Amino acid sequence: TRKFFVGGNWKMNGDKKSLGELINTLNSAKISGDVEVVCGAPSIYLDFARSKLDAKIGVAAQNCYKVAKGAFTGEISPAMIKDCGVGWVILGHSERRHVFGESDELIGQKVAHALESGLGVIACIGEKLDEREAGITEKVVFEQTKVIADNVKDWSKVVLAYEPVWAIGTGKTASPQQAQEVHDKLRQWIKANVSEAVASSVRIIYGGSVTGATCKELASQKDVDGFLVGGASLKPEFVEIINAKH
Ligand code: 13P
Repeated sequence: TRKFFVGGNWKMNGDKKSLGELINTLNSAKISGDVEVVCGAPSIYLDFARSKLDAKIGVAAQNCYKVAKGAFTGEISPAMIKDCGVGWVILGHSERRHVFGESDELIGQKVAHALESGLGVIACIGEKLDEREAGITEKVVFEQTKVIADNVKDWSKVVLAYEPVWAIGTGKTASPQQAQEVHDKLRQWIKANVSEAVASSVRIIYGGSVTGATCKELASQKDVDGFLVGGASLKPEFVEIINAKH
Protein backbone atom coordinates (compact mmCIF):
# COMPACT_ATOMS: atom_id res chain seq x y z
CA THR A 1 0.00 0.00 0.00
CA ARG A 2 1.21 3.42 -0.95
CA LYS A 3 1.07 6.15 1.68
CA PHE A 4 -0.91 9.13 0.37
CA PHE A 5 1.49 12.00 -0.33
CA VAL A 6 0.49 15.66 -0.48
CA GLY A 7 3.11 18.20 -1.46
CA GLY A 8 2.62 21.94 -1.39
CA ASN A 9 4.67 23.96 -3.84
CA TRP A 10 4.73 27.54 -2.60
CA LYS A 11 6.72 28.60 -5.69
CA MET A 12 8.03 32.20 -5.40
CA ASN A 13 5.29 33.34 -3.04
CA GLY A 14 4.86 34.59 0.50
CA ASP A 15 6.99 36.29 3.07
CA LYS A 16 7.87 35.47 6.67
CA LYS A 17 4.62 36.96 7.88
CA SER A 18 2.24 35.16 5.51
CA LEU A 19 4.19 31.89 5.47
CA GLY A 20 4.42 32.03 9.26
CA GLU A 21 0.63 32.28 9.44
CA LEU A 22 0.23 29.41 6.98
CA ILE A 23 2.66 27.32 9.03
CA ASN A 24 0.65 28.02 12.20
CA THR A 25 -2.48 26.82 10.40
CA LEU A 26 -0.74 23.63 9.26
CA ASN A 27 0.78 22.95 12.67
CA SER A 28 -2.60 23.15 14.36
CA ALA A 29 -4.49 21.22 11.66
CA LYS A 30 -5.71 17.70 12.23
CA ILE A 31 -3.58 15.61 9.90
CA SER A 32 -4.06 11.87 9.80
CA GLY A 33 -0.98 9.70 10.31
CA ASP A 34 -1.64 7.96 7.00
CA VAL A 35 -0.79 11.05 4.92
CA GLU A 36 2.72 12.29 4.20
CA VAL A 37 2.82 16.10 3.88
CA VAL A 38 5.73 18.07 2.45
CA CYS A 39 5.88 21.84 1.86
CA GLY A 40 8.09 23.25 -0.89
CA ALA A 41 9.54 26.54 0.33
CA PRO A 42 11.58 29.16 -1.54
CA SER A 43 15.25 28.44 -0.88
CA ILE A 44 15.76 31.54 1.22
CA TYR A 45 12.96 30.39 3.53
CA LEU A 46 13.96 26.72 3.85
CA ASP A 47 15.57 27.23 7.23
CA PHE A 48 12.63 29.36 8.38
CA ALA A 49 10.06 26.81 7.24
CA ARG A 50 11.96 23.87 8.72
CA SER A 51 12.39 25.57 12.07
CA LYS A 52 8.71 26.59 12.34
CA LEU A 53 6.87 23.59 10.88
CA ASP A 54 6.05 20.63 13.11
CA ALA A 55 8.41 17.70 12.62
CA LYS A 56 5.54 15.63 11.21
CA ILE A 57 5.40 17.92 8.17
CA GLY A 58 8.28 17.61 5.71
CA VAL A 59 9.96 20.44 3.83
CA ALA A 60 11.21 20.43 0.25
CA ALA A 61 13.43 22.74 -1.74
CA GLN A 62 11.97 23.67 -5.13
CA ASN A 63 15.18 23.06 -7.06
CA CYS A 64 18.87 22.36 -6.52
CA TYR A 65 22.05 22.01 -8.53
CA LYS A 66 23.76 18.80 -9.66
CA VAL A 67 26.95 19.03 -7.58
CA ALA A 68 27.70 19.55 -3.89
CA LYS A 69 29.59 22.85 -4.01
CA GLY A 70 31.63 25.18 -6.15
CA ALA A 71 31.58 28.26 -8.33
CA PHE A 72 27.90 28.18 -9.32
CA THR A 73 26.62 31.62 -8.37
CA GLY A 74 23.01 31.63 -7.27
CA GLU A 75 22.60 27.86 -6.97
CA ILE A 76 22.04 25.69 -3.90
CA SER A 77 23.18 22.10 -3.39
CA PRO A 78 21.53 19.04 -1.84
CA ALA A 79 24.21 19.20 0.88
CA MET A 80 23.02 22.69 1.83
CA ILE A 81 19.39 21.59 1.77
CA LYS A 82 20.21 18.72 4.12
CA ASP A 83 22.23 21.07 6.32
CA CYS A 84 19.00 23.02 6.90
CA GLY A 85 17.32 19.82 8.10
CA VAL A 86 15.29 19.62 4.90
CA GLY A 87 14.69 16.16 3.44
CA TRP A 88 13.16 16.71 0.01
CA VAL A 89 13.66 18.51 -3.28
CA ILE A 90 11.28 19.10 -6.18
CA LEU A 91 13.07 18.54 -9.50
CA GLY A 92 11.98 18.92 -13.10
CA HIS A 93 9.03 21.17 -12.35
CA SER A 94 7.44 22.50 -15.53
CA GLU A 95 8.47 26.04 -14.61
CA ARG A 96 12.10 24.89 -14.38
CA ARG A 97 11.73 23.14 -17.73
CA HIS A 98 9.80 25.79 -19.63
CA VAL A 99 10.56 29.14 -17.96
CA PHE A 100 14.21 28.41 -17.15
CA GLY A 101 14.95 26.02 -20.00
CA GLU A 102 16.18 23.05 -17.99
CA SER A 103 16.81 20.03 -20.21
CA ASP A 104 15.91 16.43 -19.50
CA GLU A 105 19.64 15.73 -19.26
CA LEU A 106 20.21 18.35 -16.56
CA ILE A 107 17.15 17.21 -14.64
CA GLY A 108 18.43 13.63 -14.76
CA GLN A 109 21.81 14.70 -13.39
CA LYS A 110 20.10 16.65 -10.61
CA VAL A 111 17.93 13.64 -9.70
CA ALA A 112 21.00 11.38 -9.49
CA HIS A 113 22.98 13.80 -7.34
CA ALA A 114 20.10 14.66 -5.01
CA LEU A 115 19.39 10.96 -4.37
CA GLU A 116 23.09 10.18 -3.86
CA SER A 117 23.14 13.02 -1.33
CA GLY A 118 20.30 11.41 0.61
CA LEU A 119 17.41 13.70 -0.33
CA GLY A 120 13.99 12.47 -1.32
CA VAL A 121 13.04 13.65 -4.80
CA ILE A 122 9.66 14.78 -6.09
CA ALA A 123 10.31 14.34 -9.81
CA CYS A 124 7.91 16.21 -12.08
CA ILE A 125 6.80 15.37 -15.60
CA GLY A 126 3.93 16.47 -17.82
CA GLU A 127 2.88 17.33 -21.34
CA LYS A 128 2.10 20.75 -22.79
CA LEU A 129 -1.29 21.55 -24.30
CA ASP A 130 -0.09 21.26 -27.90
CA GLU A 131 1.43 17.88 -27.09
CA ARG A 132 -1.85 16.60 -25.61
CA GLU A 133 -3.75 17.94 -28.61
CA ALA A 134 -1.27 16.24 -30.95
CA GLY A 135 -1.95 12.94 -29.16
CA ILE A 136 1.61 12.51 -27.90
CA THR A 137 0.99 12.79 -24.15
CA GLU A 138 2.22 9.26 -23.47
CA LYS A 139 5.31 9.63 -25.61
CA VAL A 140 6.24 12.88 -23.82
CA VAL A 141 5.73 11.63 -20.28
CA PHE A 142 7.42 8.29 -21.00
CA GLU A 143 10.49 10.09 -22.38
CA GLN A 144 10.65 12.36 -19.34
CA THR A 145 10.16 9.40 -17.00
CA LYS A 146 12.90 7.40 -18.74
CA VAL A 147 15.48 10.12 -18.09
CA ILE A 148 14.46 10.18 -14.43
CA ALA A 149 14.42 6.38 -14.15
CA ASP A 150 17.88 6.11 -15.72
CA ASN A 151 19.16 8.17 -12.79
CA VAL A 152 17.41 6.38 -9.92
CA LYS A 153 18.86 3.45 -7.97
CA ASP A 154 16.66 3.59 -4.87
CA TRP A 155 13.03 4.25 -5.79
CA SER A 156 11.93 4.36 -2.14
CA LYS A 157 13.06 8.01 -2.07
CA VAL A 158 11.27 9.06 -5.26
CA VAL A 159 7.76 10.41 -5.75
CA LEU A 160 6.69 10.91 -9.37
CA ALA A 161 4.51 13.98 -9.93
CA TYR A 162 2.39 14.06 -13.08
CA GLU A 163 1.64 17.72 -13.77
CA PRO A 164 0.11 18.45 -17.18
CA VAL A 165 1.43 21.88 -18.09
CA TRP A 166 -1.97 23.03 -19.35
CA ALA A 167 -3.45 22.42 -15.90
CA ILE A 168 -0.83 24.33 -13.91
CA GLY A 169 -2.05 27.65 -12.59
CA THR A 170 -4.88 27.72 -15.12
CA GLY A 171 -7.82 26.59 -13.04
CA LYS A 172 -8.23 23.80 -15.61
CA THR A 173 -7.80 20.69 -13.44
CA ALA A 174 -7.36 17.44 -15.34
CA SER A 175 -10.50 15.36 -14.96
CA PRO A 176 -10.18 12.39 -12.60
CA GLN A 177 -10.35 10.14 -15.70
CA GLN A 178 -7.60 12.06 -17.50
CA ALA A 179 -5.34 11.89 -14.45
CA GLN A 180 -6.08 8.21 -13.81
CA GLU A 181 -5.41 7.30 -17.42
CA VAL A 182 -1.92 8.85 -17.45
CA HIS A 183 -1.06 7.55 -13.95
CA ASP A 184 -2.06 4.04 -15.02
CA LYS A 185 0.06 4.29 -18.18
CA LEU A 186 3.02 5.55 -16.13
CA ARG A 187 2.69 2.66 -13.71
CA GLN A 188 2.60 0.23 -16.62
CA TRP A 189 5.70 1.88 -18.09
CA ILE A 190 7.52 1.52 -14.76
CA LYS A 191 6.46 -2.12 -14.52
CA ALA A 192 7.86 -2.83 -17.98
CA ASN A 193 11.02 -0.73 -17.68
CA VAL A 194 11.97 -0.76 -13.98
CA SER A 195 10.25 -3.55 -12.07
CA GLU A 196 6.90 -4.80 -10.89
CA ALA A 197 7.87 -4.07 -7.27
CA VAL A 198 8.69 -0.44 -8.02
CA ALA A 199 5.56 -0.03 -10.12
CA SER A 200 3.37 -1.16 -7.24
CA SER A 201 5.17 0.85 -4.54
CA VAL A 202 6.05 4.18 -6.16
CA ARG A 203 3.73 7.07 -5.41
CA ILE A 204 2.43 8.83 -8.53
CA ILE A 205 0.88 12.13 -7.51
CA TYR A 206 -1.12 14.61 -9.58
CA GLY A 207 -0.55 18.37 -9.85
CA GLY A 208 -2.37 21.10 -11.74
CA SER A 209 -5.08 23.34 -10.28
CA VAL A 210 -5.92 20.95 -7.45
CA THR A 211 -8.39 22.57 -5.06
CA GLY A 212 -10.52 21.61 -2.09
CA ALA A 213 -13.38 21.17 -4.56
CA THR A 214 -11.56 18.85 -6.98
CA CYS A 215 -9.34 16.83 -4.65
CA LYS A 216 -11.72 14.16 -3.40
CA GLU A 217 -12.74 12.68 -6.73
CA LEU A 218 -9.15 12.80 -7.98
CA ALA A 219 -7.97 11.10 -4.79
CA SER A 220 -10.47 8.29 -5.29
CA GLN A 221 -8.75 7.21 -8.52
CA LYS A 222 -6.87 3.94 -8.20
CA ASP A 223 -3.49 5.24 -9.35
CA VAL A 224 -3.61 8.75 -7.88
CA ASP A 225 -1.47 8.54 -4.74
CA GLY A 226 -1.59 12.18 -3.75
CA PHE A 227 -1.08 15.69 -5.04
CA LEU A 228 1.41 18.42 -5.75
CA VAL A 229 -0.47 21.62 -5.04
CA GLY A 230 0.53 25.14 -6.08
CA GLY A 231 -1.87 28.03 -5.48
CA ALA A 232 -4.13 26.20 -3.03
CA SER A 233 -1.15 25.17 -0.88
CA LEU A 234 -0.85 28.79 0.24
CA LYS A 235 -4.36 28.82 1.67
CA PRO A 236 -6.05 27.10 4.62
CA GLU A 237 -7.80 25.05 1.90
CA PHE A 238 -4.55 23.02 1.72
CA VAL A 239 -5.68 21.20 4.87
CA GLU A 240 -8.79 19.95 3.01
CA ILE A 241 -6.57 18.65 0.23
CA ILE A 242 -4.29 16.91 2.74
CA ASN A 243 -7.39 15.20 4.11
CA ALA A 244 -8.84 14.35 0.68
CA LYS A 245 -9.05 10.65 1.55
CA HIS A 246 -10.79 11.26 4.89
P1 13P B 1 -1.31 25.02 -9.26
O1 13P B 1 -1.89 24.12 -8.19
O2 13P B 1 -1.24 26.46 -8.84
O3 13P B 1 -1.97 24.80 -10.59
O4 13P B 1 0.23 24.58 -9.44
C1 13P B 1 0.52 23.25 -9.61
C2 13P B 1 1.98 23.07 -9.53
O5 13P B 1 2.72 23.49 -10.40
C3 13P B 1 2.52 22.36 -8.35
O6 13P B 1 3.87 22.09 -8.51
